[in-house]
Amino acid sequence: MSRVYNFSAGPAVLPEAVLKEAAEEMLDYKGTGMSVMEMSHRSKAYEEIINEAEADLRELIGIPDHYKVMFLQGGASTQFAMIPMNLMKNKVADYIITGQWAKKAFKEAQLYGKANAIASSEDKVFSYIPDCSDLPVSEDADYVYICENNTIYGTKFKTLPNTKGKTLVADVSSCFLSEPVDITKYGIMYGGVQKNIGPAGVAIAIVREDLITEDVLPGTPTMLRYKIHADNKSLYNTPPCYGIYICGKVFKWIKSMGGLEAMKAHNEKKAAILYDFLDQSKLFKGTVRKEDRSLMNVPFITGNEELDAKFVKEAKAAGFENLKGHRSVGGMRASIYNAMPIEGVEKLVAFMKEFEGKNL
Ligand SMILES: *Cc1c(COP(=O)(O)O)cnc(C)c1O
Repeated sequence: MSRVYNFSAGPAVLPEAVLKEAAEEMLDYKGTGMSVMEMSHRSKAYEEIINEAEADLRELIGIPDHYKVMFLQGGASTQFAMIPMNLMKNKVADYIITGQWAKKAFKEAQLYGKANAIASSEDKVFSYIPDCSDLPVSEDADYVYICENNTIYGTKFKTLPNTKGKTLVADVSSCFLSEPVDITKYGIMYGGVQKNIGPAGVAIAIVREDLITEDVLPGTPTMLRYKIHADNKSLYNTPPCYGIYICGKVFKWIKSMGGLEAMKAHNEKKAAILYDFLDQSKLFKGTVRKEDRSLMNVPFITGNEELDAKFVKEAKAAGFENLKGHRSVGGMRASIYNAMPIEGVEKLVAFMKEFEGKNL
């Protein structure tokens, strides 16, 4: 068996220890004689799995009691609708457009009310985060929306926008649990888990209690009401049981690694190896304004499309998978999530140096 270094933006690399443990428990989960995939979501064994997952997530982030944690279905994209349906009391929301995911969320919100784009970095192919210190936040905005880490473009909000007192809603899909966060600055923090936490399909929403009400837009399906999921502790219907089980294992893995402070140090170290190389390379260059660089997704180019394609092909042959940039931007992108080991980045940089030597 040989495992590659997987730089996929998502679904993405998971900790090997987690995969091994899941494999060991596949046929007989802790003496139950069945796989987690086969057990009732109402069973005692499963109740423990989901309760422990929530408790561990709460401990990792430091989530106070007045925030609810929900394990939901439909990935991050379902939240693009769920958020306006549950929060748009005035039918007004402000969006900061820093990439395709923010744009999709913005478009979805337009189905339900007046969504305003109050800032955008589209003028420079989303290669930076706009200044959000004094935005024209709408007086009656129900919330201000950001995509905190832009998976495709490799930018990250290093300071949260000044929402002028309005509720902040953030998609953290691609930076979930990559560093410590102050959850009390957010009304909703949510993300699909397939970037940094677990199998695709599961979304985690951490929602401040006062935002969870019966007062939703008319016609909001039962399954898209936060209150239903909060009141039923994510067990209103059959949840994505196996996915949540893997998330729980990843939470424990992060705890064993030293928690979010340690994750941040680990991620900063990895990102520095790659960015330092890019900054001095004569062949490769990063595409993002330095101060806005993501620790998770690192896009880079040679400036020559044929050479980019050659690099991606040769890298794949050498065991570095999924380095092709998103189809909308081209070039390369190395996603170096929590589970990417430091050796993976070191070896990638060594390979890039070798490629540079041969192709400059
Ligand atoms: C991947 C991604 C999404 C989409 O997630 P799905 O689970 O496929 O809906 C949304 N936002 C961000 C920031 C992402 O990286």
